[in-house]
Amino acid sequence: MESIHTIEQLKQNLRITPEEERILRKIVQKHPMRITRSYIDLIDRHDPKDPIRKMVVPTIEELNLAGEYDTSGEGENTKLPGLQHKYTQTALILATNRCATYCRYCFRKRMVGLPTDEILERFSEAVAYIREHKEINNVLVSGGDPFVLPTEVIEQFMKELSTIPHLDYIRFGTRIPIMSPGRIIEDERLQSLLERYSGSNQRVYIITQVNHPRELAARPIEAFDTLLKCKMIINNQSILLRGVNDNPRTLARLQRKLVNTGVNPYYIFQCRPVKSVKAHFQVPLIQGYKIIEDTKKMLDGHSKRFKYVMSHWTGKVEIMGVMDGYMYFKYHQAKDLRNAGRFFKRKLNNTACWLDDMEPVSH
Ligand code: SF4
Repeated sequence: MESIHTIEQLKQNLRITPEEERILRKIVQKHPMRITRSYIDLIDRHDPKDPIRKMVVPTIEELNLAGEYDTSGEGENTKLPGLQHKYTQTALILATNRCATYCRYCFRKRMVGLPTDEILERFSEAVAYIREHKEINNVLVSGGDPFVLPTEVIEQFMKELSTIPHLDYIRFGTRIPIMSPGRIIEDERLQSLLERYSGSNQRVYIITQVNHPRELAARPIEAFDTLLKCKMIINNQSILLRGVNDNPRTLARLQRKLVNTGVNPYYIFQCRPVKSVKAHFQVPLIQGYKIIEDTKKMLDGHSKRFKYVMSHWTGKVEIMGVMDGYMYFKYHQAKDLRNAGRFFKRKLNNTACWLDDMEPVSH
């Protein structure tokens, strides 16, 4: 997987000012840079504010450390290194800390491309945990990006997980179809593996992340097409990102293009208040809500099936609406089942970007 990971390589591909270079050198010591060749080709080299560029090229704002590193309680949901169990029915495996490209807004910025003890050490122990917990009906294999792992490792995951009778489906969270489409299009062994396992004992799903319609270029579309031919069901979760997709026209174009590609709109996530991310990628909730509603006006039923949600440490909270000075929310998924489906409100605040930025209402 050919990629750009040094400032020298970046300078050969994009125009970088000496000031930018000085800052970049500082940032990449803390959070590594990696951009695949195929992704860098999607960048408009003449536009320093290009949304594709913003997602992958570090900027000075990353030096702003407002926020947290773990905003959704991943630490407290960890049962074994690399295995989280937050929602009753779902186990989450962090299979690797590597990705083909490091997205600058990543909510696992604390670990991607860095030494970490948060990834899976002993797969057999994770399998034993899932086997014992019969309430788990699905496993999400994430990371990092599990599709950077060798095909034999992916095969081992499939082989073991497919023997657990109470699992209905297995999901792989990956941005490889966008970042390195050749990995899907050219790897026949991976294709036959996916096809073999989907629909035998379990169904295999791909959870991908496309944030901008320009990411759906010809090769990524071909990669998704290949996955569809391998009996994959593909769902997309985008992140609402300032300067990238924070306008209704872009988001509407994205959802329509996804549906046209055969990828189901699933979630649009509010960007989390992560250190080095919060200050330059978050959009205030009230603005986000308006963007989403204006987007929906341009969409049909299929392309607006997504929910606008926030992955809070207490659960997945849907942003439902605004009325009479309040914003209304509902727990779509709850860590504490007593909150499941709970509808609640918070006083409207024009700068709030996260639930905790809004004062609770006592009645
Ligand atoms: S591919 Fe996913 S895990 Fe990797 S950096 Fe991007 S958002 Fe984070």
